[in-house]
Amino acid sequence: MKRILVTGGAGFIGSAVVRLLLAQTEAHVINVDKLTYAANLASLPGAEGNPHYTFEHADICDAEAMRRIFATHRPDAVMHLAAESHVDRSIDGPGDFIQTNVVGTFRLLEAARGYWSSLPAEEKSLFRFLHISTDEVFGTLGDEGFFTETTPYAPNSPYSSSKASSDHLVRAWRETYGLPTLMTNCSNNYGPYQFPEKLIPLMILKGLSGQPLPVYGAGLNVRDWLYVEDHARALVLVLGKGLIGESYNVGGFNERTNIEVVRTLCALLDELHPQGAPHGRLITHVTDRPGHDQRYAIDASKIERELGWRPLETFETGIRRTVEWYLANEFWWRSILDGSYQGERLGLTKEKI
Ligand code: NAD
Repeated sequence: MKRILVTGGAGFIGSAVVRLLLAQTEAHVINVDKLTYAANLASLPGAEGNPHYTFEHADICDAEAMRRIFATHRPDAVMHLAAESHVDRSIDGPGDFIQTNVVGTFRLLEAARGYWSSLPAEEKSLFRFLHISTDEVFGTLGDEGFFTETTPYAPNSPYSSSKASSDHLVRAWRETYGLPTLMTNCSNNYGPYQFPEKLIPLMILKGLSGQPLPVYGAGLNVRDWLYVEDHARALVLVLGKGLIGESYNVGGFNERTNIEVVRTLCALLDELHPQGAPHGRLITHVTDRPGHDQRYAIDASKIERELGWRPLETFETGIRRTVEWYLANEFWWRSILDGSYQGERLGLTKEKI
């Protein structure tokens, strides 16, 4: 694929996708991003000035901007990652989630459909629209079982219900209009360049500054953790080799309770930043998030069987690389902490980094 339009390419996962495409393919990348609080162009070192890269500062809800961008850049494929992505923010203010995740996906689908319909037959048959979604659309699991591609949708938060809505729109645009779409549903990502409102970077930065490490409830909620660069590889593979109309679950084979994750981070900080040791003394339990899903676990056997993907990082290797990255890249997160980010809701308390 020669020209790939990536939405949300200045965000956490989108920037990993753009870095991968620029480093390992010949594709020209068109990054369409509104630059919300979660975006950071510093997550794309070397992209500006790269002849294979174009940045379009635009909102996916803006129908005219999307029409112009498709007409100007004539992409062979779309990788749609732009979204409001933080569950806690969706509880405090669901409006932006409905706007970007539902209305924005609708506008993008319409712009893609208008452009795709106008293509000559061969280009039309090669065009792909890959929608990136989450395992949270499946709801919550008990102690047993895994989410598969056929698990019924049962989203519980404003975030996951807005993503579920966007998944249904993507499916409908394929069934109704024939737009060649594919979809992925992925578990929790972690790794370099993650905005410090999410569990792992939040704990690393609080631990580094000796602040309490707030853990929801008893910390027994289970998530399946995937290193972001493994996710980016999966997405590029699905775009190139996945079948139209299929969805693929992507997971890390790394189930951990939140408290296990935080204890692992404390042990790594004790080793790599011994000034603050023992960091475990900073752990504090805070009131649980309302509607907090108990367990997510992905059955990622389909993408392994059909496309040959497996994560390269184990949780142990990936989490160590992540802590080392945050220690070595203070310039990246310091600029966020010094800027507009004011600390976010955790449990029912207001926390500041
Ligand atoms: P993120 O919040 O880090 O980045 C989102 C990006 O989208 C930002 O750069 C933001 O500026 C951009 N954006 C937001 N609204 C926009 C709009 N209206 N128009 C254009 N750009 C807009 O998110 P992330 O963690 O990188 O997640 C990317 C995608 O992957 C999302 O669709 C998310 O639902 C999905 N996902 C995330 C995870 C995870 O663990 N982070 C897991 C599974 C799926």
